[in-house]
Amino acid sequence: MATEYTCITRKIEVHLHKHGDSEEAAQRFKEEYRIWDDINNNLYKAANRIISHCFFNDTYEYRLKLHSPRLQEIEKLLSNPKRNKLSDEEVKQLKAERKQLFADFKKQRHVFLRGGVEEGANPEQNSTYKVVSNEFIDFIPSEVLTNLNQNISSTYREYSLDVERGVRTIPNYKKGIPVPFSIKQKGEIVLKKREDGSMYVRFPKGLEWDLNFGRDRSNNREIVERVLSGQYDVGNSSIQETKNKKRFLLLVVKIPKQVASFDPSRIVGVDLGINVPLYVAINDNEYGGMGIGSREQFLKMRMRMAAQKRELQRNLRHTTNGGHGRTQKLQALNRLEGKERNWVHLQNHIFSKSIIEYAVRNNAGVIQMERLTGFGRDKNDEVGADFKFLLRYWSFFELQSMIEYKAKATGIEVRYINPYHTSQTCSFCGHYEKGQRINQATFVCKNPECTKGKGKQRTDGTFEGINADWNAARNISFSTDFVDKKKK
Ligand SMILES: [Zn+2]
Repeated sequence: MATEYTCITRKIEVHLHKHGDSEEAAQRFKEEYRIWDDINNNLYKAANRIISHCFFNDTYEYRLKLHSPRLQEIEKLLSNPKRNKLSDEEVKQLKAERKQLFADFKKQRHVFLRGGVEEGANPEQNSTYKVVSNEFIDFIPSEVLTNLNQNISSTYREYSLDVERGVRTIPNYKKGIPVPFSIKQKGEIVLKKREDGSMYVRFPKGLEWDLNFGRDRSNNREIVERVLSGQYDVGNSSIQETKNKKRFLLLVVKIPKQVASFDPSRIVGVDLGINVPLYVAINDNEYGGMGIGSREQFLKMRMRMAAQKRELQRNLRHTTNGGHGRTQKLQALNRLEGKERNWVHLQNHIFSKSIIEYAVRNNAGVIQMERLTGFGRDKNDEVGADFKFLLRYWSFFELQSMIEYKAKATGIEVRYINPYHTSQTCSFCGHYEKGQRINQATFVCKNPECTKGKGKQRTDGTFEGINADWNAARNISFSTDFVDKKKK
């Protein structure tokens, strides 16, 4: 059985590596950026050349068909066998003849692509490669050209029929297209880790691109670590330069899919909560649900770190005149910020793991979450300030990203839904009204007909209500108002 994969693309900023501080190293650095600029300034032209030749090669064969009187005759006969009084045997013969003609045209095409040579391997890609290598080999390494040629030829094949039918035309490539290279060479991945822990990718012409993870909200470092350890495989990758001259590695990671078959109709809703960082519920279970993480613990940790930070910053202001003391304090501040990030990072790992385990335990095939853009901005949700507070101090984005890739790796689908009204709607009767979330923790449905959305009735006739986060998580699990993860 073939292994199944989920492919994800990770975007990681890269810089060319500086090989020391010597004059020689500076020269090399300059020269390598020149090499890169040459590639980037010419690659889109090569891409346009390839695609127009792919198109031309098809057109050549099309013309052969168009100008063959015998083929036209056969097509005419076969278009209405009854009227043309063809016997079954004749139809069969004509079809065979047509097939032979097609094969002949294909052969003629290949001879043409080889410049008149009868035999030779893979004439299609070789012909387009010849065109671009002839023109661009001084600027673009052959490895990049080979990859580009493969990519463009195979994408072209996907829509060549549409081009022939006139449904679409060939694309026009512009400067800044991704520069493809072989991420694997002779089975070896060219992604490497140096002794100091820094990572780089080995690019043709001896270029080394240092990976810069920055704040790493998408958890890229960990994913690259997993590639290095062999847990994940990699696919065709590229480096792309943006208009503002930043360069990114577009790393395609293949995560093995566990062929566990969870119930696709059972959905876990995840609420990014106020009282607890996370609350989960299942769409077809009126009782199930679970809070994950503790707000108090999280706040305490944050407050402690914030206090330490303030103290250091205050000290810094008093040490104005540079010097050793200042440097040390700055270092301490950086260390503290690093510690803080690590702590949140670790918490997010624990939380995301719990959610996946919860889904697996309940045989749920889908996890639904609220899209973060516009999150907490519902003007009828009277919790805006709280959300703002949490958003500022918690990397929800990182958390969602972790849930997403861990779910994918487990074979669970992740969907994003519109966060609108999820905390103000009764998950039992669907009633929406302002003020049903009577406080942060409690939801009481105001629909007189509704019983389940009110909780137990007290002796004085009032209701205890239900857990507000759980109610929101339930709504999220029911929602079919799907949105794109990032779209506004
Ligand atoms: Zn209700």
